[in-house]
Amino acid sequence: MSTRSQVSPGFLLAFGGWRRTAALTALAPLLLCLAVSDVAAQKRCAGGAVDVTADTAEERQFACQAAVHAIELLSRCEIALRQPIKLAIRPEVRHPLNGPIFGSFDTRGEVALITDSGHISALLKGTPYAELPRQEFYRSLIVHEVVHGIMHQNMLRPASTHAAYEYPAYALQIASMPEAVRKLILQRYKPADLSSEILFNDVILFFDPYFFAARAYTHFAAAADGCELLRGLLRGEAQFIAPSMM
Ligand SMILES: [Zn+2]
Repeated sequence: MSTRSQVSPGFLLAFGGWRRTAALTALAPLLLCLAVSDVAAQKRCAGGAVDVTADTAEERQFACQAAVHAIELLSRCEIALRQPIKLAIRPEVRHPLNGPIFGSFDTRGEVALITDSGHISALLKGTPYAELPRQEFYRSLIVHEVVHGIMHQNMLRPASTHAAYEYPAYALQIASMPEAVRKLILQRYKPADLSSEILFNDVILFFDPYFFAARAYTHFAAAADGCELLRGLLRGEAQFIAPSMM
């Protein structure tokens, strides 16, 4: 759940580490072991289409189910998975400038990076999502990042704003939740604010991503054809998103 598409600093550190191993030959056997165990942790989900790297079989299984849910939600809109999606569950995912975050989609590596469930509570503290059932929130977080991945595979024109990039991920994240959980999110806001006609924009996204998320779901769910809104985003056509100010 980040607007960022950059490779996480964690990834860069790891990559830098690999380069340094050329000189640090004494450490090579140890690093090789780490690399092998990491590769071994990546598994393809039953039914194919999703590859998950995680420490435990339970985490992989959970991520697989959430990813399949995201694939189903988009397939209802005739937005299909074009190639297997990769998920990496990590103890920490960092924003290049803002420190630890829930997750992000790395468009260069085409991998969804998700903070592992054991480290989510600390990130949730003080946010409007802190009161949500932890497991339901975590499932929706994976849906969010997988939606980014599938939209990325189908994008005909790159999103010109962060708002255009995040709208489908937030709308479907909240759509993926059980109704009772979704209610907990929506009831925080006045209905008139959620259905406001103000264009979705990067300023609201930046200052209040939780409100942006609730509005995105409300707008998507109320649309005569929500799927067409998502397909419009793939074509770079979305009248409901404010144009880039850059
Ligand atoms: Zn996002």
